Amino acid sequence: MPYRTTNTDNFIRFLGTAGTRFIMLSQRRSSGGIWFSYGSARGVIDPGPGSLVRICEAGPPLSPMDINAIIVTHRHIDHSSDVNALAEGMTLMARAPKGLVLLTRDCMENGDGVLMRYLCGKIKSIAFHEDGAAVSLSDGTTVESVAHSHHGVQCYGLIFRKDSLPAWGVISDTAPLPHFTERYAECELLVINTTLMYPRARLDHMAVTDVESLLEFLRPKTAVLTHMGNDLLDRGGEYISKQLSSERTKVIAAVDGLTLNLEEQPGNR
Ligand SMILES: [Zn+2]
Ligand SMILES: [Zn+2]
Repeated sequence: MPYRTTNTDNFIRFLGTAGTRFIMLSQRRSSGGIWFSYGSARGVIDPGPGSLVRICEAGPPLSPMDINAIIVTHRHIDHSSDVNALAEGMTLMARAPKGLVLLTRDCMENGDGVLMRYLCGKIKSIAFHEDGAAVSLSDGTTVESVAHSHHGVQCYGLIFRKDSLPAWGVISDTAPLPHFTERYAECELLVINTTLMYPRARLDHMAVTDVESLLEFLRPKTAVLTHMGNDLLDRGGEYISKQLSSERTKVIAAVDGLTLNLEEQPGNR
């Protein structure tokens, strides 16, 4: 484990780091998304296949019954398949509707929704991403949605804020977009779905060269590459993260189970 901090209430844990359906289907990397504990918000971002299993296997222990938020950046199966299992955990034994599910409108449309109908009545709030709108998670913790462009589905990145804690963000599956340099400027920690080694026509994913360009404008103390594709994994995430690291930004290639402190980012200074 290259970088592990668990002696804090504010952390993210990578339940999975798989990028693309090929890696999800082979489970070369797990596909469980990201657990976050931030302020009093506890939740999972993009619970793909195996998310529940990775939560239950985690040490120190995590429980799906402790979460109060589930966030889906887009409807692709590697980001959404375990939504129902986690919603069942979030609402189990609750005497009243509980928790928040934040997802895209097309996750609930056309009779092909990712969230089972019987669970909708057990969830306190079902919210939809709107570009620039912040949704309240709990106790002053908010998450703002950032419009992405990804293979014809609705898709959004995330910026989390809480007074007294550093802001952090997630760039999900997307082609690189000009507004990222402005919107993610305040994030001290930035998770970037980096699927490709080099940009490829018709593939709406960030490539290593896109991340390199982005980090010339953004100044996160820590940038974390995840959702890596086969080419990138073959080359070696650690090798690539060293190439991208600079004096101002420590770049880390996520591995399954990686846990990072959200209270402070050591950076490279
Ligand atoms: Zn994906
Ligand atoms: Zn996708």
